[in-house]
Amino acid sequence: MRPIVIAANWKMNTTPADAGELAGTIASRTRVPGVTRVICPPYVSLAAVRDGIEGQDVAVGAQNVHHELGGAYTGEVSVPMLTGLATWVILGHSERRALFGETDELVGRKLDRAVAGGLRPIVCVGEVLREREEGRETQVVDAQLRGSLEGREPAALLAAGIVIAYEPVWAIGTGRTASGADANAMAEAIRASLVALGWGSGADDVPVLYGGSVTSANIAEFLAEPGIDGALVGGASLKPDEMAGICARAGITAAARGLAS
Ligand code: PEP
Repeated sequence: MRPIVIAANWKMNTTPADAGELAGTIASRTRVPGVTRVICPPYVSLAAVRDGIEGQDVAVGAQNVHHELGGAYTGEVSVPMLTGLATWVILGHSERRALFGETDELVGRKLDRAVAGGLRPIVCVGEVLREREEGRETQVVDAQLRGSLEGREPAALLAAGIVIAYEPVWAIGTGRTASGADANAMAEAIRASLVALGWGSGADDVPVLYGGSVTSANIAEFLAEPGIDGALVGGASLKPDEMAGICARAGITAAARGLAS
């Protein structure tokens, strides 16, 4: 049974001075049976968030990690440095791909390190607007998955609890969203890509999240789809009211899928 996951990507927002209180407020307002919650603040706020959610059933994630364990990589953070701070990590977010030149191959190397270090990865994929307009979105996402997952042992990634986030780039931070039906079709395509990569029935165990301008007002459309198992939330994840609404709706899906007991 796949979990329902609501992951908050705070991007480059909050400071260590305010992140703990915000995380604590979100944690206390989003406690819903059957919903796995993850908060991913900037690196410098990881400790504050960890402390702010102490005793609550909320995981802390990093927004990125370097593919090497240490060395001359000024400004970077490695997997061992996250010990005690984060148990999840977002990999291959489209902002990292577009603004920092991350390739599928690099995402794959980061994935290897993350999994070896015990971090639970959320691997982001998604097409840009032109690719969707040209009807190539499935092909693009398949290539991203192939580029970062091929040659890896499915059993190891399944054991690590890998999550895929489908985030159409044109929907991130724009107020535009995919339709629930389109998101579900992509979730099915993602699992078909995994089967083609040799994952067999394991593909059905991989949670697929939708991301892209998710709010409390539109989350229902995505969580009503059988292939969608939660959301990666950016802008709205900084607002406790929004997160409360999103997680409340996620709880309905969790209950309907028998996860809430
Ligand atoms: C994201 O950052 O992953 C995201 C989906 O952002 P937003 O919800 O703001 O579109």
